[in-house]
Amino acid sequence: MRRNLNYGFLLGGMNMDEKKLINEKNIRLDGRKLGELRPIKIEAGVLNRADGSAYIEWGGNKVLAAVYGPIEAKPRHIQNPTKAIIDCRYNMAAFSVGERKRPGPGRRSIEISKVMSEALEYVVFTEKFPRAKIDVYIEVLQASAGTRCAGLTAASVALADAGIPMIDLLPACAVGKVEGQVVLDLDKEEDNFGEADIPLSVVPRTNEIVLLQMDGQLTIKEFEKCMEMGMNACKDIYELQKAALKERYAVFTEE
Ligand code: ADP
Repeated sequence: MRRNLNYGFLLGGMNMDEKKLINEKNIRLDGRKLGELRPIKIEAGVLNRADGSAYIEWGGNKVLAAVYGPIEAKPRHIQNPTKAIIDCRYNMAAFSVGERKRPGPGRRSIEISKVMSEALEYVVFTEKFPRAKIDVYIEVLQASAGTRCAGLTAASVALADAGIPMIDLLPACAVGKVEGQVVLDLDKEEDNFGEADIPLSVVPRTNEIVLLQMDGQLTIKEFEKCMEMGMNACKDIYELQKAALKERYAVFTEE
């Protein structure tokens, strides 16, 4: 969510015109280097009643993903006789942001749900479940920029936890431009006051891009740098996803 600098927004009691997001040593406000991710923790299988679930903490984001299904799609006229429908619902809790967010779906959450459904549909073997529906719920409990990437990362872990056959997991990460520099994984201030933000998601096994959005402006060279940085970061996030699933099933076999 980009906001105009000229509105005189304040950051930490200081005007943004005075406060730099990146210092002369290329260190960002939260101490990260330009190509560094915020700390990420993923846990699989956190909900007993869902068929699959995952919880992710990513910097200041806290997001739960839960999967129900596959179940018969109802009403019957929505059924696809050749494949399952992936119905992803992204929701931001009213208490997830500084100012109380108006509960319920809005244009933003409908858009995010749509791009997430399409990305997940690409990796799930939907043709194995004709006439079925797979519900994927993404609940953002705390938001601090990059929630769609955190949500998608958790959602694919939850689908794997539900035992749904997939080509691969789907790591996602945002990359963008802040004060003229290409940076990885924008935080809240960078998202608000930066020049560009590109959430992307990659199928690690094939390097196919299944989610790519862009807010802001970049030169072709900057865009290429963003893609390289973002795709490399997705590989690191992929390792965390696999580790979360391995840990879940190590516990499961001990039980
Ligand atoms: P993403 O969370 O995927 O980066 P946006 O770029 O649309 O999606 O949003 C960036 C951030 O702006 C969110 O993570 C959240 O912290 C904040 N935000 C989004 N919608 C609202 C809202 N309705 N009220 C307050 N803050 C919001």
